[in-house]
Amino acid sequence: MSLRPAAASDLLIDGKLIPGGGGTFDVINPATEEVLGKAADAGGGAPAPPPRAAPRAGAAPAGPRHHALRARCLRQLRDALLAHADELREITVAEVGCPVFLTHGPQLEGPITDLGYFADLAENYEWTQDLGEAKPMGLRNHRELRSEAAGVVGAITPWNFPHQINFAKIGPALAAGCTVVLKPAPDTPWCAALVGKVIAEETDFPPGVINIVTSSDHALGAQLGSDPRVDVVSFTGSTATGKKVMAGAVESLTKVFLELGGKSAFVVLDDADLAAACSMAAFAVVTHAGQGCAITTRLLVPRAKLDEAIAATRDSLAGLAAGDPTDPGTVCGPVISARQRQRVESYIELARSEGGTIETGGGRPADKAKGFFVEPTLISGVDNSARVAQEEIFGPVLVILPHDGDDDAIRIANDSPYGLSGAVWGTDEGRIDHVVNGIRTGTMSVNGGIWYSADVPFGGYKASGIGREMGVAGFEEYLETKAVARPA
Ligand code: NAD
Repeated sequence: MSLRPAAASDLLIDGKLIPGGGGTFDVINPATEEVLGKAADAGGGAPAPPPRAAPRAGAAPAGPRHHALRARCLRQLRDALLAHADELREITVAEVGCPVFLTHGPQLEGPITDLGYFADLAENYEWTQDLGEAKPMGLRNHRELRSEAAGVVGAITPWNFPHQINFAKIGPALAAGCTVVLKPAPDTPWCAALVGKVIAEETDFPPGVINIVTSSDHALGAQLGSDPRVDVVSFTGSTATGKKVMAGAVESLTKVFLELGGKSAFVVLDDADLAAACSMAAFAVVTHAGQGCAITTRLLVPRAKLDEAIAATRDSLAGLAAGDPTDPGTVCGPVISARQRQRVESYIELARSEGGTIETGGGRPADKAKGFFVEPTLISGVDNSARVAQEEIFGPVLVILPHDGDDDAIRIANDSPYGLSGAVWGTDEGRIDHVVNGIRTGTMSVNGGIWYSADVPFGGYKASGIGREMGVAGFEEYLETKAVARPA
């Protein structure tokens, strides 16, 4: 069976693949600007149909049989998607513009495989906990805790790592026993819709347990986020939109779980291998054209080594030119859209007006007549208060800043509204630990360490979010706790 839509992709509602009430909208290849095809448009103004379907399916009885069904369906989905991996890879690279090498990891096969982790959790989680006896108010009682599915989850996701983020929400939510309405970003509808097709045609998920609604209009996200029938809003996107989602959930007091933006620091200590560290920082910031919330976009180097670091980083970036994402050697593909490129370019212009120096890049690649490409760019000569050092750019743009020692590096790293991720390079373990402990952020990489994995909770401090995705902590975002007591 081919997944590529002949006419347009469908919505998945209540177990059925159906066209959108709002017609269709174009799916664009960001590397070529060509129209790849069409996606169903659920429309923005109409009342969102899926949450109505979802609670019905949520009425499935809780308990071991229910968890076993969820685990079986999640593994079925994993295996079916892996069988389609090559076709999905081609479509994902075309729709997202992500370098094909990433589809062997977090852009496709990693998150599909991770569905198995959540299936295991459904089976092995300690759903009930015996707290034993106690004598509140002098009376003997036996107490237990039960974990239950939180209910209907409204999952709203961005375009940069669509499979990773979609599966990091639907995997644990379904394993927890919830029903889900997934609304992907308008830029990457197919990554979600084609998974919906596989769910409908190749798995035994009961109708309505998982619904997928694509839309050209952000209003559908706002509607889902404020729908009183939704019990948990699980949102990944920009901090600005996250604030709106939180405000929208106030009236119904819906639980919100937010994965938001970042402006993470890459700290190089004075005992580090400077060339290796700068080369890694350059590689990180161009990966998928810098469109990763956890990418380190501020490079903090010892002041005495600033010139040497600028030269090393510039040389590394020069070897990482933006290229065709279908080429296995490409690390930096295009950004997602003309709008996003314009945003990145406006920040580069801002750096110039703030007195910064563009050490390399700063424009569009001369060899690319089409596609939303931006040259890997290094900015120096600004301090950490500059807007380009404070605001998320979401492009292949690195700001290099000098620091005056370990504590100063910690101070600069923390001088940010965000706290999503970070990195430190050095030799002395004690000093490295001091930096790791000092930076208020959800993940830290030491000397190139990779924390990304299904069992590692991911999320942010401060304006980078509320809650954790992945791992047991991410699974528990989709659970409620019920305490039960009876006379002993
Ligand atoms: P965005 O905030 O513009 O959109 C994200 C999603 O929210 C989309 O599906 C969009 O349609 C929807 N949306 C827009 N307005 C809405 C509203 N008022 N109410 C509800 N939903 C609404 O983000 P984007 O441009 O798609 O993605 C880039 C951003 O996502 C960056 O800021 C990046 O840092 C962030 N991000 C964060 C993480 C993380 O885990 N922390 C991961 C990836 C991306």
